[in-house]
Amino acid sequence: MIKKRFYFLMILLFTGIISSTANVVSIRIFTSRIINTFIFSPISGSYKLMGDGKVVAASGDGAGIFQLSIVGDSILLKTFERTIGTFASVKIYNMSELSTFKIKAVVPESKVRTYDDGLEILLSADKKQFILINKVDLEKYIGGVVESESGTRTSLEYYKLQSILCRTYLLANLNRHIADGFQVCDDVHCQAYLSKTKQSDIEQAVLATKGLVVVDNDLNLITAAFHSNCGGQTVNSQDVWSVSTSYLKTIKDTFCLKQPHATWQRSIPVEDWKAYLQLKHKYPVDDTLKMNSASNFSQNNGRSIYFIDKDLKIPLKVIRADFQLKSTFFSVEQVGENVIFKGKGYGHGVGLCQEGAMRMAKQKRSYKDILSFYYRDVHLVDLSALNYFRQE
Ligand SMILES: [Zn+2]
Ligand SMILES: [Zn+2]
Repeated sequence: MIKKRFYFLMILLFTGIISSTANVVSIRIFTSRIINTFIFSPISGSYKLMGDGKVVAASGDGAGIFQLSIVGDSILLKTFERTIGTFASVKIYNMSELSTFKIKAVVPESKVRTYDDGLEILLSADKKQFILINKVDLEKYIGGVVESESGTRTSLEYYKLQSILCRTYLLANLNRHIADGFQVCDDVHCQAYLSKTKQSDIEQAVLATKGLVVVDNDLNLITAAFHSNCGGQTVNSQDVWSVSTSYLKTIKDTFCLKQPHATWQRSIPVEDWKAYLQLKHKYPVDDTLKMNSASNFSQNNGRSIYFIDKDLKIPLKVIRADFQLKSTFFSVEQVGENVIFKGKGYGHGVGLCQEGAMRMAKQKRSYKDILSFYYRDVHLVDLSALNYFRQE
């Protein structure tokens, strides 16, 4: 046990979680957009702007509008009144813990987004686009992620749960983009982070769970997988990602059955379905019996991994990806010239079912109960308590 604790501690030391009290993380923002010109404007607090390591401008409390654009292979920094200079990199430091800023891409145009703390501005290797990195306090980042990942209409208890999961995900993935010059991106590839949170109940939930993360029996941070709606049964992690984990096991879930993404339907022409099965899976579509079963498939007794049966080994996840279906939890039935996919749930189905968990939270279940309902044998750990392991 001591060895494992030591290993866990080393991860935390390596990633700077314990050694730094400020816990600033580097998050690429506007990841999926190519931006050539943008406007940076403080909302509150003072900022200091550094061009290639030297102070080149400052802004007082919430003042100033700065435009940054790519000229040749440099960054041109200016205000409305004057050009400040051209630089290889620009760093904008927040001078207080309450500094917030607005950012808006001009070419091509984007909506205004707001963020906390600082911003580092780099150019891509080909110098054709900006790489914008929000240097932000970990807990403030979690607030933005919770809002982006779970919306603005759920309960405080659910927000607490989502805060813990997003924090756990971040700490387990701090090196995911380290080769790119930042830690995680703001896209669904890592965790969606579309702005700072505007909701006080989310801020309250983040604060109430500050530092809490989820670990397994070996004290390793869990893969905090979640999805929109499981359709009534979650999925083993090995059935989606080929990796078995002790805590991501299939469970029956009745909480999500009447929620917004509980069911879906999709219709495609029989001829298209036939052509797909034949071309992609070499399915014997000219065999009437076989084609009959390919057009009458059900998962009424629980989730399957494969379509029709195990011998053919057509994974449902492949059909889901090819037809962009909401889930692998579907039945197929032929109606006239069409096959109808009748599906349940939305998402990969592994780990926590968000709509089920939201329903549980509304029914006054605690975030701890909800956590142990969806993840088997996991534990909540406060990062600050890890000093205990340090002294062992
Ligand atoms: Zn990413
Ligand atoms: Zn569910």
